Amino acid sequence: MTSVARRSGPARHASAEAYPGPGGDPAPRQAPSRPYDRPSARPVPARPGNRPARIGARGVLAVIIAGAVIVIALWWHSTPGVHGLGGWLTGAGEILGLLCGYGVVVLVALMSRLPPLERGLGTDKLARWHAMGGRYIVCLVVAHGLLIASGYAATAHVNVVSESATLLTQYPDVLMATVAGFLLLGIGIVSMRAARRRVRYETWYFLHLYTYLAIALAFSHQLADGAAFVGNLAARFWWSAMYLTVLVLVLWYRVAVPLLAYRKHRFEVVGVKAEAPGVISVYIGGRRFEELDADPGQFFRWRFLTRSLWWSSHPFSLSAAPGSDLLRITVKNLGDHSQALARLQPGTRVFAEGPYGAFTPADSGRGVVLLAGGVGITPLRAIFATMPGRVTLIYRASSERDLVFRDELDQIAAARGGCVHYLVGSRAEIGGDPLSPRILRSLVPGLDEQEAYVCGPAGMTSAAVRALRAAGVPRQRIHFESFEF
Ligand SMILES: Cc1cc2nc3c(=O)[nH]c(=O)nc-3n(C[C@H](O)[C@H](O)[C@H](O)COP(=O)(O)OP(=O)(O)OC[C@H]3O[C@@H](n4cnc5c(N)ncnc54)[C@H](O)[C@@H]3O)c2cc1C
Repeated sequence: MTSVARRSGPARHASAEAYPGPGGDPAPRQAPSRPYDRPSARPVPARPGNRPARIGARGVLAVIIAGAVIVIALWWHSTPGVHGLGGWLTGAGEILGLLCGYGVVVLVALMSRLPPLERGLGTDKLARWHAMGGRYIVCLVVAHGLLIASGYAATAHVNVVSESATLLTQYPDVLMATVAGFLLLGIGIVSMRAARRRVRYETWYFLHLYTYLAIALAFSHQLADGAAFVGNLAARFWWSAMYLTVLVLVLWYRVAVPLLAYRKHRFEVVGVKAEAPGVISVYIGGRRFEELDADPGQFFRWRFLTRSLWWSSHPFSLSAAPGSDLLRITVKNLGDHSQALARLQPGTRVFAEGPYGAFTPADSGRGVVLLAGGVGITPLRAIFATMPGRVTLIYRASSERDLVFRDELDQIAAARGGCVHYLVGSRAEIGGDPLSPRILRSLVPGLDEQEAYVCGPAGMTSAAVRALRAAGVPRQRIHFESFEF
């Protein structure tokens, strides 16, 4: 079934979305019943000029590749010559070893929550690069070990097994580095898609933390055995500074910043509201939220300080534009953690890490189409309420019961003169693919001239992106957010 709500009237540009709450009063102690339609006491002003610098994907890649070239130059500088099969194998192993040492620093830096990276690339792309880079590093680690053992064995005219035993027992820190290599290999195997599906997210996450142990174990091996570092103080200094910088970034952005943010903003749960079967909104109160500099479309990692939830943080998008003393997230019950959020009590303290994400529409002067599927409506709901200009929202859900925020969306459409289309039901009920290029074009006149934002389950997102491309929307004007890292 497709139902359409159209409203005419001038489009309204709201820099911050309206929240309820009497003027100047503290945040409400329970979930507001109508979060959209009453004006806010203190709306957050838009501050477009006050954003951290964005780095594009090409810029980041260029920096990473430049680093890799310097690493290879370091090997070149420290290698007087390569002789015989043993020399070539050893040389190749040394280069791969250096690239591993450099690569793990890059992988950790990508996950350090550095704001320009988070804003420029977006957390989901960073996570994809991290995962892809992780696979390369594991292969490099294995190849490094095999090449070095083979190279030394060829040079010494002994077999690889006895040379490996010599390396493990007589070279400084090789044993520790081998343990690190096996740890990385194990983490790589657990992170493979097939294995990930069978392992709980938390289990995978805590195993993943052993990466830090592996990096620490392998570090001294690099300086003690790496030909590029032995006797080269400048290289040792540069290498150590690189590791130290990334360590400081991780500690600062992943540990210190959330603690400081809590001290400043005093996040706490003020109420929980049922929105639809299995979907709830959590209202988080606090102070000075305008200084969070959060945009509609962004998400935070939330750590709720209850006995059972404090140890893990989960990403949830803002489902309404941030107010100066109130934030809202809307959560679908998909597992232990999301289910437990329904039982949160007012007053529960919260650590919030963010805002993150690059799913934040800029005003390009074009019309905008928002395509939401299921709980992917959350960031798009906030964008729909605040995005200036001509905006059309298309919301795909499998049944009427699964539609979240229907009243709010209709009110927003009416208030801003926007348009919302609900595509509800199975393909059979609808009589075909509701996200086909033909249907999208019929719902959004001039679709190929518009900017498109898509958020939903992975399958729906890729189908929507394909349909938009087929409908003539250029790739660079299609933006999407994945709820899976
Ligand atoms: C950028 C982003 C924004 C999101 N916004 C929303 C939102 O607004 N509303 C909403 O309902 N859901 C949102 N999600 C999804 C939400 O984070 C997961 O559904 C939730 O963490 C599931 O946890 P669980 O323990 O209940 O379920 P589990 O059964 O443990 O996990 C289900 C799946 O969720 C993912 N997941 C679990 N824990 C985490 C975690 N700590 N970090 C990243 N992924 C995790 C994994 O892919 C896992 O397979 C978002 C996810 C991302 C990455």
